[in-house]
Amino acid sequence: MAKYNDPKCRLCRREGGKLFLKGGRCFTEKCAYERRPYAPGQHGRARKKVSDYAAQLREKQKVRRIYGVLERQFHGYFVKASLSKGVTGASLLSMLERRMDNVVYRLGFADSRSQARQLVRHGIFTLNGRKADIPSLLLRAGDVLEVPEARRKIPVLAQAQQAVARRGLPGWLEIDAEAFKGVVKALPQREDIQTPINENLIVELYSK
Ligand code: SF4
Repeated sequence: MAKYNDPKCRLCRREGGKLFLKGGRCFTEKCAYERRPYAPGQHGRARKKVSDYAAQLREKQKVRRIYGVLERQFHGYFVKASLSKGVTGASLLSMLERRMDNVVYRLGFADSRSQARQLVRHGIFTLNGRKADIPSLLLRAGDVLEVPEARRKIPVLAQAQQAVARRGLPGWLEIDAEAFKGVVKALPQREDIQTPINENLIVELYSK
């Protein structure tokens, strides 16, 4: 993701919901959206009529921000999803879920997706026994993600399992916490993705 240096909580307030961009803080009363659940800026509280286009655009932006993906890459995922055999919206979400940074986050090796991305870039993980440091890598069923022994002392990794206990582990993943190892059991299906997303709006937006 390109550098976004403004407060992340603004993004939640802009999209009108919690996007869980700041890890543990999102589950506390310090959450900015809990305290100010309206859009940022002078007119944030004003009631606005939302057009169909605005609703579609906001949904797309929301999903981009949840997964931390730039517009061009996101559109690339959409094109791939629309060429796939399955339902376009579900394929799009499945692809986003399979990104390596997201899998690291889901397995609880990081508190947020941005932290997961940083850890991946720093070469903390191996994929099927080989070093892998590309956050956008799409994992496949049977892939094994591991933290080599020499890197297991990193403090954020030690907190990993608390994060899983808080968020829950999706059924398509398996973790062996003692061995610092996660396995992609199967490709994620639409019903495995609990994040409240209306992917049909995104399909409508890009199909115009
Ligand atoms: Fe969003 Fe709240 Fe987390 Fe900030 S603390 S990123 S507002 S969910």
